[in-house]
Amino acid sequence: MCGIVGYVGKKGSVQMIVDGLKRLEYRGYDSAGIAIRNGNGIEVYKTAGRLKDLQGILPDAAAAIYVGLGHTRWATHGGPSSVNAHPHRVEGIAVVHNGIIENYRELRTLLESEGHTFLSETDTEVLAHLIEESCTESLELAVAGALLFSAGEREVEPRLARLATVGLESLRLGQPVPTLSGGEAQRLKLAGHLAKTGTDPILKIGSVPN
Ligand code: GLU
Repeated sequence: MCGIVGYVGKKGSVQMIVDGLKRLEYRGYDSAGIAIRNGNGIEVYKTAGRLKDLQGILPDAAAAIYVGLGHTRWATHGGPSSVNAHPHRVEGIAVVHNGIIENYRELRTLLESEGHTFLSETDTEVLAHLIEESCTESLELAVAGALLFSAGEREVEPRLARLATVGLESLRLGQPVPTLSGGEAQRLKLAGHLAKTGTDPILKIGSVPN
């Protein structure tokens, strides 16, 4: 079981993320990492081993951050290594994840055929690529779509699943699009189209289906 710590605000520090991860050490882990944003883009630091190993490669612990994301990993897909440790970053997206993405091989093959290059052996990295693929307007929608495609609707947090479903329906209403039952490749393309419409799908439809 992994540990996840997140921070958004004006008074954050690297140390704050590390302290949060220390409180989750009891859950067990084999590697760790953090992503921070301090005004100079996203920086990612990760390593196999213990938090003290991570601390050894971190910048000044007192350094201020606006956004921080920390993760202790218990490897399921790919051994414990710095490359396989989370967060996984693709462009401006950094992802940490707890659990298993059962259809990650299929998604990885699809994404690679779309030109994405993978660095790790993890299932998690498909999430970062899926979000990056469709994140042109709305991050929330892109996350919802990625979760919907990667985990299966039943396992997605209900609000996000509903958002993605509404978005796809909105796209269907707004312009002719292929049916959703045409396979994962088509669904993946729909996710990209969905974000590129740039409209609020809930407003466009006017009501939210159950
Ligand atoms: N399945 C993911 C991995 O192996 C996450 C493992 C975890 O929950 O820590 O990277």
